Amino acid sequence: MQKKVALHTLGCKLNFSETSTIGDQFLNNGFQVVNFDEYADIYLFNTCTVTQNAERECRQLVRRALRNNPDAFVIVTGCYAQLRPEELCQIEGVDAVLGNQEKFNLFSLIDDFTKKDLSCIFVSPVNQINEFGFAHSTDADNRTRAYLKIQDGCDYKCTFCTIPLARGKSKSMDPDLVVSEFINLVEKGYKEIILTGVNVGDYGHSLGTGLYKLLLRLTDIPGDFRIRVSSIEPNLLSDELLELTFSNKKMCNHFHIPLQSGSQHILRQMRRRYTPEYYYQLIEKINSYSDDTGIGVDVIVGFPGETENDFLTTYNFLRELPISYLHVFTYSERPNTPAAEMKEKINVYERRRRNNMLRILSEKKKMSFYEKMIGKELEVLFETENHFGTMRGFSSNYVRVNTVYDSNLTNEIVKVSISGIVDGICEGNILENKNSIDLKAS
Ligand code: SF4
Repeated sequence: MQKKVALHTLGCKLNFSETSTIGDQFLNNGFQVVNFDEYADIYLFNTCTVTQNAERECRQLVRRALRNNPDAFVIVTGCYAQLRPEELCQIEGVDAVLGNQEKFNLFSLIDDFTKKDLSCIFVSPVNQINEFGFAHSTDADNRTRAYLKIQDGCDYKCTFCTIPLARGKSKSMDPDLVVSEFINLVEKGYKEIILTGVNVGDYGHSLGTGLYKLLLRLTDIPGDFRIRVSSIEPNLLSDELLELTFSNKKMCNHFHIPLQSGSQHILRQMRRRYTPEYYYQLIEKINSYSDDTGIGVDVIVGFPGETENDFLTTYNFLRELPISYLHVFTYSERPNTPAAEMKEKINVYERRRRNNMLRILSEKKKMSFYEKMIGKELEVLFETENHFGTMRGFSSNYVRVNTVYDSNLTNEIVKVSISGIVDGICEGNILENKNSIDLKAS
């Protein structure tokens, strides 16, 4: 009987790309990959440790899986496993805990997936995580967008962040390997490839190269595709990267740039590497190239010492900023981070109130950006699903667009004119698909 494995990912796009690669390893070893809610002989969790909630959710999911099959072999890996393996071993039913390096060597570490009395831990100390774990993912069955991991770890020391403790030093995939894997994904028919990592802008630092040089090579690859960079630190978004983005049709005009706070005082406490003024000028510079650029911003509320005045400074800063959406995070104490030792904690209700205020602001920003698209033409990559006679996709500048379903146009980059907004999604009328767009351009 073919053994069944169910995989579950918590956290970032990087984790999703890694789980998908582990899933491929199971397929290559003769296992059947099933959905998480189905009966499985093995359950694997790729975990996150950025917030307490992420860890709590992992423990709840392990118990849920064991209700599905009490005899299942349970593997927990990822950042939570890297940082607190013993804690995870305490959970009744967990059989193996693998660190961030070991997750890719699963089949050389475990050869018998039957439950034992004792659970086993395979976790290298973070300062010994030197190997670059190759990973890419697919969007399940709709072959439109693929995530390609090009960088891992981080050399920065932001005081709230536990990622360097879980993923170690910044390391990058060899550029030749990136190019060959990229070509492989294009040949498989992916029309959008998202370059992902922990600190993507730091790509190549340890190899004496950089993201700009890599993108020059990737945009040179022939084919019908576009490139999206998952996120980039403000101090790493250079003028040459901007120039390349707005001069090359293969680059998506979309940036996701963490801000974290609009207060100089809090940015200093967070040990971030820019000022609000620097950040503002960067956003202005991007808009000077095109004010239709999609710009997403990460922000943390409730950081220790964040006064009402600091919060309002952040709120007003974001309200004035020409951006298109926010990702709002509530500060969460992480063990062994400097911020966890800081005084002047903000109570959870106040953190929640501030989070709600910014989520409302984010929705307003998104809708006013979507309204600005009405009457404009966007290039949209439509996914394969048929939503009751319509199909959806993202534009290059990260606008969600809905239009009449046409199976000939799924997984195609299509030019649409935006006619309006329904249920928070832009409505588009098909103008022409990419091939005819390119033919015309050439
Ligand atoms: S840049 Fe800062 S927040 Fe981002 S992963 Fe590195 S240490 Fe964490």
